[in-house]
Formats: sequence, C-alpha cells, structure tokens
Amino acid sequence: MKKWKGIIASLLVVLLVGMLAACGGQDLASKNVSDNKADGKKSGKLKIGLSVSDLTLERWQHDRDIFVDKAKSLGADVLVQSANGDEAKQLSQIQNMLSQGIDALVIIAINSDSLSPVVEQAKKEGIPVLAYDRLINNADVDAYVSFDNVRVGEMQAEAIVKSVPKGNYFLLGGSPTDNNAKMFRQGQMNVIQPLVDKGDIKVIGDQWAKDWDANEAMKIIENGLTANKNKIDAIVASNDSTAGGAIQALAGQHLDGKVAISGQDADLAAVQRIVEGKQTMTVYKPIKTIASKSAEVAVQLAKGEKVQADSTVNNGKMDVPFIKLDPIMVNKDNVMDTIIKDNFHPYDDVYKNVPASERPAKQ
Ligand code: BGC
Repeated sequence: MKKWKGIIASLLVVLLVGMLAACGGQDLASKNVSDNKADGKKSGKLKIGLSVSDLTLERWQHDRDIFVDKAKSLGADVLVQSANGDEAKQLSQIQNMLSQGIDALVIIAINSDSLSPVVEQAKKEGIPVLAYDRLINNADVDAYVSFDNVRVGEMQAEAIVKSVPKGNYFLLGGSPTDNNAKMFRQGQMNVIQPLVDKGDIKVIGDQWAKDWDANEAMKIIENGLTANKNKIDAIVASNDSTAGGAIQALAGQHLDGKVAISGQDADLAAVQRIVEGKQTMTVYKPIKTIASKSAEVAVQLAKGEKVQADSTVNNGKMDVPFIKLDPIMVNKDNVMDTIIKDNFHPYDDVYKNVPASERPAKQ
C-alpha cells in the first residue's frame, strides 16, 4: 500500500511539473508577442508560420516559393509545413507552429469549417491570422487574400455557355470542404440558372470531387457518361485537376475535344490541352500576385500594423477584410497574350504537342 502511495505521489508530481512547463511555454509565447506589440513594432527578426493544405497540385508549390521569397525580402523568416491534404495533420502542425513563437500565422485551409479552434488559440496568444486563398469560417480572422472566387465561377460558366448555349450540362464541383468550391459554384449558377429556367440548359449531373482529386473526377464523369448514354454536351469543371480527370474519362469514349469543359489555375497540362483543343478554357490567377500580396500583409500583421482592404467577406462570425484580386479568363485565343506574355509558362512548353505549322508565331 505504501509503495502504491509513493508511485501515485510521484505521478502527481510529474503531472504538475508538466502542466507548469506547458503553461510557462504558453506565457512565454504570448509575452514574446506582447513585447513585440508594445510599441506597435517588432524588434529582431520576424517569424511567420505558413500552413499549406497540400503540395500535390502545381500551383501550391509556386505559392509557397513566392511567398517565402517575398517574406524574406521583407525581413521575415517563414516556417512552412504542408499537411498533405490531411485535416487532422493541419491542426496539429498549426498547434506546433504556435508553440514556436511565430509573429503571424498564414493558413491555406483544407477544411474551411474546422479551423476555428486553432485560430482562436492563435488569437489568445496574440498571433494574427491571415486566410490565404481559402476563407476560414466562423473564426476571428484578421485578413483574407484571394481572387474574386465568385467571378472565377462566372468566367467558367460564361465560356462554356458561349461554346454550348443549349444542351446537357454536367456540374463537376471541387472539394466539398473548401469554401472556394462553394463560391465557384455560386458564380457558375449566376450564369447557368437563368438558362436552366429558360429550358436551354438541362443539368444532368451535379457532383463534387473529394479533395479536388483527378481520379475521383474521372470516376464521376465515367459514371455520368454511362448513366446518360454519353449524351453530355458540356462539363463545368471547377479547376484544372478535376478537368484533367474528366477529360481522361471523355477520352475513354473518344469524346475528348467534343465536349466543352472548363478549368482553373492555368496548370501547364491544362494550357497544353487548351491549345490542343481538348479543354475549352482555364482561369489564370497570377500566383505571383496572391503570394507576394499575402507575404506583404502577413509581415504587416506580424508588425502589428493595420491592413488595408477594399472589401469584406462574411465568414459566419464576422466581416473579414478581403483583399480581392482579379482572375483572368484564358482560352485558345488569348494564351499568347496572358500565360506566355507573363512567362507563367514558356511558349515551347505550352505548344509542345502542337505541330510547328499550326502554332502561332513566337513573339
Ligand atoms: C483554389 C484553386 C485550386 C483548388 C485545388 C482552390 O481552393 O482556389 O486554385 O485549384 O483549391 O487545390
């Protein structure tokens, strides 16, 4: 019995010491920040935490690289962690960053609805939070930098309606947990709904691809083709990865190039499909613009400065200052004046699969 009492007592001591250490760590973190903010300025090197949803898509690697370079040029170090699409991992990585004394937290959310606890924790510790590209719902977010996502959806639908004014439409949404996917759909419906009401367009399928996954998109469209005896005239796909999967499904039925299909991101593979006539359009969102702007805003927030935003977006809890950037519609006709002119992708890569005699002149 005595022995047990001894063991329990030692366990209690270990527990107590652990708790005190944890509290001490937290105190230190908030003290650090409040010291920094005492005169509104931070002394010493700034540290920014960047939590990336995943790095599988081409765009996010550019986002990360440009963000880190820009932040460095503004005098901040960036601690980057990618969650590889795993929601739980993103939460624990953020908690880990918070314990490392960061001055601002930048998040590319996997699930726009599940991050409020960590955002609240950051706020308690005096660390400002920036939502990058994807909004974080029901949380106290300091700023949101993104493109006009409703406009992105409108551009997608406008281009498809121009190419196929009447017919059977399949709506292929993105990840159901990504707030952007909902905003793209909202924009698409702004254009499509009046034509559905008029009877010109019939929506014969409406599905969302988990994690924006190309394979998932391929399966959805394979099943859609079977269920509709291949009678699909147009696919409103919300980005290039899902468009790629859908086009693979179309190719299986020798329908690639015959069905209008949208996309987004101006991924190299998508721009190549556009010049080959297999994809109708994409939406070009210059990564340099969003990544540099976000780095500037993150540094401002880290210094305790006020951020300038022209609009706001409601996230269920508050009106978040929204720095809204303009997307650009890209199709076969303006690839040269957009993607290539900006050197987003080089001419030789874009026209790689197009015979020399059919390429536009190199400028
Ligand atoms: C982004 C898109 C991207 C998609 C998949 C969205 O939140 O806005 O640019 O294609 O996520 O990663």
